[in-house]
Amino acid sequence: MWDDNEEGGHWQFQFRRNLRDWEIPMIDALTDRIGDFSFSENEDSWLWVWSKKGSFTVRSMYKFLTDEKFDRLGSRQVFPSSLVWGTDFPMNIKCFFWSLFLGKILTRPNLVHKGFDISSLCPFCNLLPESTVHLFLHCLLMLESWTDLLSSNQQTLLKVYEADTVVLELWTDLLSSNQQTLLKVYEADTVVDLFSNWPVKSGNDLMVRVWKYLPYAAAWVTWKHRNNKVFNKALA
Ligand SMILES: [Zn+2]
Repeated sequence: MWDDNEEGGHWQFQFRRNLRDWEIPMIDALTDRIGDFSFSENEDSWLWVWSKKGSFTVRSMYKFLTDEKFDRLGSRQVFPSSLVWGTDFPMNIKCFFWSLFLGKILTRPNLVHKGFDISSLCPFCNLLPESTVHLFLHCLLMLESWTDLLSSNQQTLLKVYEADTVVLELWTDLLSSNQQTLLKVYEADTVVDLFSNWPVKSGNDLMVRVWKYLPYAAAWVTWKHRNNKVFNKALA
């Protein structure tokens, strides 16, 4: 009950029975929540509490939801929106990376979690669960591909050379001395880790862009290849 007095009033609870121990924190939480409210004679109106001006904005809703989500996960790390929405990919590819970074793409463990009765092992190696970090970075097949991609080995350059002589010089520059980046692939705990820590290269515009989008291209091709293997039984 609200008990009015000269200083403005306060909440006064009366219960018909004694509270149980586990109920006391709930009452405390309730008191905390309603403690700042004060009553007045003014007419009631709607108020959006998550923005300063009291009116609804999509931004405040988004912030509330993400804060709450990351609070629940025990981390204040904010979703790296610019890595998804700041790119100039087509929308379906942006959406793919959005769900990939959230760990929501339909890998086998995620399908098992949803109730599908299937193996959760990686379709490439059949040794470990198909987590996103395994599928995109740490599966042996992927580590081999990353090593190929990030080393200036003759084989890789030869393939590029056969494909297009114009970009050979670009690739020779791009693929030289990337041991540090390869180390990042090995050390990343999550796919987002790698993308967030992907080094920035300087150079001409085309090179900067190709380098920046290299991990995206690798992940997108991996996912296509994985689906082809799972659904069309293609060979690895
Ligand atoms: Zn594997």
